[in-house]
Amino acid sequence: SEHHFSDFDKLEVLGHGNGGIVYKVCHRITAAIYALKVLNAGDPQSRRHAAREVEILRRAADHPSVVRCHGVLPAPSGDVAVLLELMDFGSLDSLQLRRQAQPIPEPALSAIARQALLGLSYLHSLQIAHRDIKPSNLLINAAGEVKIADFGVGKIVRRALDKCVSYVGTCAYMSPERFNPAAQGGAGYDGYAGDIWGLGLTIMELGMGRFPLLPQGERPDWAALMWAICFGETPAIPDSVEASPELRDFVSQCLQKDAAKRWTVAQLLDHPFVSGKDRASPELAVRELLVDLDCDSP
Ligand code: ATP
Ligand code: MG
Repeated sequence: SEHHFSDFDKLEVLGHGNGGIVYKVCHRITAAIYALKVLNAGDPQSRRHAAREVEILRRAADHPSVVRCHGVLPAPSGDVAVLLELMDFGSLDSLQLRRQAQPIPEPALSAIARQALLGLSYLHSLQIAHRDIKPSNLLINAAGEVKIADFGVGKIVRRALDKCVSYVGTCAYMSPERFNPAAQGGAGYDGYAGDIWGLGLTIMELGMGRFPLLPQGERPDWAALMWAICFGETPAIPDSVEASPELRDFVSQCLQKDAAKRWTVAQLLDHPFVSGKDRASPELAVRELLVDLDCDSP
């Protein structure tokens, strides 16, 4: 692209992760504002991860529910920077913090689910599994749009010679088949059903105001969590939490433990929780969540 790393002024840090640091930047010449994710490419493994993220971003950056990539720029000391559309309200996990963990009301939750499903439908149609769907990887903007971000552990399924058996990603949102591929007949998995699991858990968390698979207020016990995901009951919204039958059913179809029974994106897009006729403007429902929050202090 015609952009140069040195033409951008860093305004603030938007987030850090395993993949790199994300800055809010301003293009000095046009004054346009972007997010710039600087991917560490200092060692061979990081270089491979960065290359995969860049390749997926290049292929998949043309959908309203996927964060757009405006260019890939060489950065100092061999790192790679990707210029992304700025999502000015940050991620859904920061939204949850700013709302002090109040459950997100159902009209907005349905709108979030619908937009995430549209983004996943696009990715899956390109044979890309995201593999890390969780609140910190779903971003929102002032227009009320919700977009999928962070392809650090994504997988281009079609090209993969090996089955997709690996342990990258945050284990808290990983599906049973990801932990325990042998339980699924040793066939490995393509990752699409894992994206649905991550979405189901995300929607459940936002609807409850807390991560549902760990006891509240205690230090997470990762071994117990993994055990519960693999061998426990199918997660369900507790009766003590207010939720419509549609939301309860949506979550339970996403969280079918057996990946073969879990609903696909196409099935879920027809689910009454997201497909009702009052769901015409998903952005509007999300925007209502943002009115009390200040856009400049995510
Ligand atoms: P992790 O390993 O924690 O998932 P990562 O290094 O892979 O993170 P991202 O998830 O892409 O990086 O970004 C980290 C954080 O930076 C996000 O959770 C979000 O808060 C912020 N962020 C990323 N991209 C954008 C963007 N386009 N606009 C606004 N904020 C962003
Ligand atoms: Mg992330």
